[in-house]
Amino acid sequence: MAIEQTLLLIKPDGAARRLTGLTIDRLDASGLEMVAAKMVSVSEKMAREHYQALSDKPFFEGLIKYIRGEFHGIKDHRVLALVYRGEGAIRKVRDVAGATNPEQAAPGTIRGSFGRITTSGQFENVIHASSDPADAAREVALWFRKDEILP
Ligand code: UDP
Ligand code: MG
Repeated sequence: MAIEQTLLLIKPDGAARRLTGLTIDRLDASGLEMVAAKMVSVSEKMAREHYQALSDKPFFEGLIKYIRGEFHGIKDHRVLALVYRGEGAIRKVRDVAGATNPEQAAPGTIRGSFGRITTSGQFENVIHASSDPADAAREVALWFRKDEILP
């Protein structure tokens, strides 16, 4: 398996429900290495760029509000952004996360245990994880400068 890097975000529901440590613990146990970490105040522009591939989806505007903490009282729009590196890192982080839809995510996964679907239909699924090598490269470069990532 190739050595990969992948972006992980603790989404506002994850922060509000105090699931940051648990998520980091699970990733520690998976054997991956954390190579970058920072708190980011997510601008509207950043949110739209991060989710650009979903801009035509009916849930897009809600998703922008969600990632900027507007449903969880996070007034400074902060999220914790992390980069993990290791063999098959993209798949491994997605496995820890579980399926996008919390109702379909396996019980032991973060999303399976702690995700929910709101009455308005928004998936609140605790973390973001890059989905493939092209996405991971784009997302890591969007959230981090090169000199913020350990060599
Ligand atoms: N999302 C949603 N409803 C949907 C699909 C996605 O609210 O029907 C949200 C959800 O928070 C998800 C994010 O949009 O994590 C990005 O969607 P994507 O399909 O990229 O899923 P992910 O890569 O996060 O598993
Ligand atoms: Mg995705």
